[in-house]
Amino acid sequence: MAPLSEFELIRQFFSTLSAGRSDVVEGVGDDAALVDAGSGELLAACVDTLTEDVHFPADAPAEAVGHKALAVNLSDLAAMAARPTWALLALTLPQPDSAWLAGFGAGFRALAESSGVALIGGDTTRGPRRSVSVTLLGRVAADKVLRRRGARPGDRIFVSGTVGDAAAGLRLWQAGERHRAGAVGELLARLHYPTPRLALGAALGGLASAAIDVSDGLAADLGHILAASGVGARIEIERLPLSAALRQLFPLAEARQLALTGGDDYELCFTVPPSQEVRLRQAAARCGTAVTAIGVVEEAAGLRLVDGAGQALVLPQGGYQHFPAGPQP
Ligand code: ADP
Ligand code: MG
Repeated sequence: MAPLSEFELIRQFFSTLSAGRSDVVEGVGDDAALVDAGSGELLAACVDTLTEDVHFPADAPAEAVGHKALAVNLSDLAAMAARPTWALLALTLPQPDSAWLAGFGAGFRALAESSGVALIGGDTTRGPRRSVSVTLLGRVAADKVLRRRGARPGDRIFVSGTVGDAAAGLRLWQAGERHRAGAVGELLARLHYPTPRLALGAALGGLASAAIDVSDGLAADLGHILAASGVGARIEIERLPLSAALRQLFPLAEARQLALTGGDDYELCFTVPPSQEVRLRQAAARCGTAVTAIGVVEEAAGLRLVDGAGQALVLPQGGYQHFPAGPQP
């Protein structure tokens, strides 16, 4: 029997466990869960774990691990249009290393303060390698919440910022690059210090038809919107927003491959009905976050890539999965 994929594993063993309470508005299956907090507000909740050597290199700066552990969760709430409020931190460490903890705490605190989040509890345990798990709660008005489902044929597909940078940064880091300045420094910063798009996410509430954050790669994450919405899409690869740093250090074809399949960017990918496009561009300008139209939602299932002349291209390998389907060694 083929081994379970990460998503099949979740579906088979966990997706049914959220049944049983009528106040669960959204259980397993979106960027965050939604529960009815009363008075027209929903409580949004998510948890993400970073494990040493899987999500961050053992020699990553401690500040970066503290920042990123919170950032990846903020990004999930941003994708629901929720405003983050409270966090719980579960930490596993091989030994109590105070220099590392001081750096970790500084990175976590800076982002918590700038995003209005209070750490209200957690858990500390000893284990074979470092692992950081953050549970984040936030609030969103019931009529403003964003989900992965809701995209309709004809909607325009947008992505915030630039994509492919974090995956490029990871390649550079693994090749031993440690420069803080220039294009290398910019890509490494995108890997270690991702910027969750909280203001944009909140502004998209009631405006976008569907949204997700880009954690596993644009093609894979857009694929989740399409599957949840029962639609397909066409992406023009020449429209993919690539940073100057990425273009400077990687050939165009490779940069586009990274943009489509590289994970860890924590940008938002979302769909907008044509009637809302002007409002969207005004909202994005107010947030100071660039947004780029990269394609259109279509009725036929699947993701199609085309070049500027409308010629079809083959989709390179998909996004990151912890337990990919198929034969394993
Ligand atoms: P994201 O990349 O946005 O963090 P994931 O791909 O990790 O989302 O998870 C997809 C969905 O599955 C989410 O709704 C998440 O809450 C849920 N999920 C993942 N693992 C489990 C689990 N062990 N038990 C219950 N729900 C889970
Ligand atoms: Mg997500």
